[in-house]
Amino acid sequence: MKYVDEFRASPAAAPLRARLGRLGEALSARPGTVNIMEICGSHTMAAARYGLRDLLPPRVRLISGPGCPVCVTPPGYVDAAIELAGRGVTIATFGDMLQVPGSSSSLAQARAAGARIEVCYSPRRALELAAAEPAREVVFLAIGFETTIAPVASLVDLAARERVANLSLLVSFKLVPPALRAVLADPDLSIDAFLCPGHVSAITGTAVYEPFARDRGKPCVIAGFEPLDILFGLCGILAQLAEGRAAVENLYRRAARDAGNPIARAVMERFLRPAAAYWRGIGVLPESGLVLRDEFAAYDAEKRFGLKVGAGREYPGCMCGDVIKGKRLPAQCPLFAKRCTPADPVGPCMVSAEGSCAASYKYERKGGR
Ligand code: SF4
Repeated sequence: MKYVDEFRASPAAAPLRARLGRLGEALSARPGTVNIMEICGSHTMAAARYGLRDLLPPRVRLISGPGCPVCVTPPGYVDAAIELAGRGVTIATFGDMLQVPGSSSSLAQARAAGARIEVCYSPRRALELAAAEPAREVVFLAIGFETTIAPVASLVDLAARERVANLSLLVSFKLVPPALRAVLADPDLSIDAFLCPGHVSAITGTAVYEPFARDRGKPCVIAGFEPLDILFGLCGILAQLAEGRAAVENLYRRAARDAGNPIARAVMERFLRPAAAYWRGIGVLPESGLVLRDEFAAYDAEKRFGLKVGAGREYPGCMCGDVIKGKRLPAQCPLFAKRCTPADPVGPCMVSAEGSCAASYKYERKGGR
C-alpha cells in the first residue's frame, strides 16, 4: 500500500481528487456507468500501482484496453521465433518477450534447451550481434506500437549502410487507431471515452484520434504516465462528458506535440506499409499492422526463411483475449494467481511489465501491494 498511501497523502493530488469529485457530481444525472478505456500498458500499470481506480467517482470505470504490445502478440509469433532458433538462427529480442508463452513453449524455455536467444536493450544491439558473427543469421523480434516502430525499422537502414547482410526482422508491428475502432465495434463493450497513450501520441500526434471524437462522439484525452498525469487526463475526460462534448485534448504537452513526430513517421513510411495483422484476443484487423515494403524483403525474416507466422494456440482457460479487450478483469480468470503467476505465467498479460494481469497481481491482489 506504500505507493497508494503516499500518493493519496500528497498535496499535489488533493486538488485533482476534489475536481474528480465535483465532476462526478456533475455527471450524477447521467444514466448508467461511464466507461473510460485506457489503451496503454503504462497507464494500466500506474493505475494499479497508485490505486487510481479507487479515486474515481461512483459509476465511473477505468477499463484497460489493448495497449500492451507483448500481450496482443499471438502465440504463433513466439512459435515462429522458436522455430527459427531451432534452425540455428540467433534470436535477438527485448527481454519482455522471453517468458511469453507460445503454443507449447517460450523463448526462455528454448534458451534453456540451448537455443541462442539474446536479450537486447536497444535494436542497435541486434546489429552488433550480426556484425560480430557474419556467418550466423540474426533475427530481431520487431514488435511494438507506434512508439517503438521507427527506431526498430531504421535497423534496416543501418544494416544496409554498414553492409551487415545477416540481420533480418520478424515483424509484428501494431497500430493503435485500428484497435480503437475494433473496441468501438464490439457489441459487448460500451466505451464512452479514451485515455490516449502519451508515448504513442508523441509519434502520431492528435489527428489520428479526431475521427473518434468528431464522428463517434468519444472524448479522447492524451495523458502522461505519472499518477497526477492520469488523474489530470481523467478530469479532462469527465469535464468533456459533463459538458456534453467530445474533442481531442492533449494534456501531455511536455512530451507530445499536436503534430507528433514527423521524422519518426517518415521513417515508418519509408520502410513499412500497412497490412492486416492478427491481434491476440481480437483476431485479424485490416490495416492494423505494418510490414516491410517489398524492396526490403531481404530484411524480412518471414520471406528470408520461408516462414508463415500463424495465430498459434492459446493455453486452455486463459482469458487474456477478454482481458486485453477490457471485457474481463484479471481476477475473473479462474487461473489468476493460481495456475498463472508472474513466476509461472500462462498468458502474456501475466508476463509483460505492462500487462493487466501482472499489474493486478502485483498491486491489486489481496496482499499484493
Ligand atoms: S490470469 Fe493468466 S491465464 Fe488468466 S488471463 Fe491473465 S495471463 Fe491469461
